Amino acid sequence: MQFIKDIYSTRAAQGRPVISFEVFPPKTAEGDRNLYEKTIPALMAIKPDYCSVTYGAGGSTREKTLQIVDEITKRHNLTALAHLTCVGHTEVQVGELLDRIQSLGCRNILALRGDPPSGTDFQTTPGGFEYASQLVKYARERGDFSVGVAGFPEGHVACKGGKHQDWRHLKAKVDAGADFIITQLFFDNTDFFEFRDSLVKAGVSIPVIPGVISILSASQIRRFTQLCGAKIPPALATRLDQLEHNDDAAAEFGIEYASQQCRELLAQGVPGLHFYSLNKSASTLRVVANLTLS
Ligand SMILES: Cc1cc2nc3c(=O)[nH]c(=O)nc-3n(C[C@H](O)[C@H](O)[C@H](O)COP(=O)(O)OP(=O)(O)OC[C@H]3O[C@@H](n4cnc5c(N)ncnc54)[C@H](O)[C@@H]3O)c2cc1C
Repeated sequence: MQFIKDIYSTRAAQGRPVISFEVFPPKTAEGDRNLYEKTIPALMAIKPDYCSVTYGAGGSTREKTLQIVDEITKRHNLTALAHLTCVGHTEVQVGELLDRIQSLGCRNILALRGDPPSGTDFQTTPGGFEYASQLVKYARERGDFSVGVAGFPEGHVACKGGKHQDWRHLKAKVDAGADFIITQLFFDNTDFFEFRDSLVKAGVSIPVIPGVISILSASQIRRFTQLCGAKIPPALATRLDQLEHNDDAAAEFGIEYASQQCRELLAQGVPGLHFYSLNKSASTLRVVANLTLS
């Protein structure tokens, strides 16, 4: 087990980017087998520094998230990052979860407000937290954790005051004790660079890690971006229209697009790349193989 904040400082000293990927708890036994027997073992080939595990809407995957964290740590000897959300939990329940995460030998959490169950608005649970910044502060006080937070290069979809206000809220998470920021997916690197530069200007010095997705199909990425509020640039939208009924070609294009995005991000000195694997290995493996990593 390593603290993720230490992984970033060690890799920075070595001049090597931190490579990590995200998985989510599957809904079926077959999905479990696929994740444990195929996806994670295959992704070990990219020599990942850590793997993050999402936490389902409203805490719906709590046990599964912990199980996968345990599996990654013990079976694969890989550092795990457990996502944890405020949705549907009191402070006491969050405290118990943090203790359980720590008892599994995991000392890394991604502190999130979380998405409410689909079609509903976020409601603060009585006795719970309203914003992720409160969870960051609580986790730091509760145990010896390295704490990451979410960042939104295009601004969070629900922030009425726009992206600059959302970035000020992000700064509050950093001030509350966050050690690193992982971003929402995006397709235009200029959004990421503007976001990063604005944070640096505001005095943020922790690692800001781009979250990268390799498109698998036109319909899937339209659905994802609609949910998270990320934009599809016009040229990309046109290309996706052309690949509407050909998922294999869309996945090939996605690999090229993500590889080009990563090359440019690395050239601009990002501290690492975090891949949204979608519990599949093929595209992430190909993208990483396309990069020159020291
Ligand atoms: C890398 C990454 C991983 C994710 N993993 C998960 C997951 O595992 N499970 C899941 O359910 N969701 C996940 N999400 C989605 C995330 O939970 C949602 O986008 C959620 O709506 C926002 O979470 P947050 O932690 O950024 O919230 P917050 O930082 O609390 O922000 C939520 C909203 O409140 C605003 N805000 C913050 N502070 C204040 C304040 N003081 N006053 C007024 N407004 C404020 C913000 O601008 C924003 O609009 C992930 C997102 C990312 C980028």
